[in-house]
Amino acid sequence: MSLIPSPLSTPAVPVSQRPCHHFSVDVEEFFHGTAFEPYVPSSEWDRWPRRSPQVMDRLLDVLDDAGVRATFFVVGWLAELEPGMVRRCAEAGHEIASHSWDHKRVTMQTPEAFRESVRSSRALLEDLSGTAVRGFRAPSFSIVPGAEWAFDVLVEEGYTYDSSLFPIRGHPTYGYPDAPRDPHWIERPSGRLVEIPATTLAVGSRLLPASGGAYFRFFPYAYLRGAFRQAEARGEPATFYIHPWEYDEAPSIRVPFRTRMRAFYGLGRTWARTRRLLRDFDFRPLAETADRMRQRDG
Ligand SMILES: [Zn+2]
Repeated sequence: MSLIPSPLSTPAVPVSQRPCHHFSVDVEEFFHGTAFEPYVPSSEWDRWPRRSPQVMDRLLDVLDDAGVRATFFVVGWLAELEPGMVRRCAEAGHEIASHSWDHKRVTMQTPEAFRESVRSSRALLEDLSGTAVRGFRAPSFSIVPGAEWAFDVLVEEGYTYDSSLFPIRGHPTYGYPDAPRDPHWIERPSGRLVEIPATTLAVGSRLLPASGGAYFRFFPYAYLRGAFRQAEARGEPATFYIHPWEYDEAPSIRVPFRTRMRAFYGLGRTWARTRRLLRDFDFRPLAETADRMRQRDG
């Protein structure tokens, strides 16, 4: 028998000591994903049916059944076309946050264009939700080493937390390997903001991505649960993310096999796994974790 415990069999923390985790949704259509940029240019976005509203209505029911309040990072372009969807999410008590205006990666933008994107999406989402928008998640976790200027823009534009860092190495388009795994402060010349990174599973000295999306569909449920339990053992919240199109059927679009597998493999299991996750753990919006850190640290 191995003396090294499997990271997947980390025992559960007693209920009374469990932190609340984060259930977050990056609210966008499948064609906003980086992998689809070559096949659906932004000039053709409005030719595709928008399927997020119906998926989100069903997800709102599932979250309501579980008594969970989530955080929805919404793409401004989609919010403008589907304002009712954003209003329904806010009315159900969920947090509305920004996922940029047009899903452009931070690394593909000038600071001026990024500022306009975070400013316009925030204004629209505040208008639709009737609540303050405090959080931002970069498309495709694209705040990577060298793009820290984005934090200054976020602070200057009134955001109080960010959830764009993925503390992993080896991914071709994202990853901030030296970021702490758990929620922490980022100090910048413009001020400071809370960072709530995507969750990882530690296997030996390596951190593997384990917070949602394709990792949720590709690997056994125990992989994600292991990452959540490791976070609980540290007394820290884990952060799960998913997209509306991962609850839907795959669209008919001709793309290379590899792209298709990555984007759509395992879609059929997403609802059942989500219900299980919502049963197994407690959740609260990311803004509440940021608030607690502010209260604790002044
Ligand atoms: Zn996205």
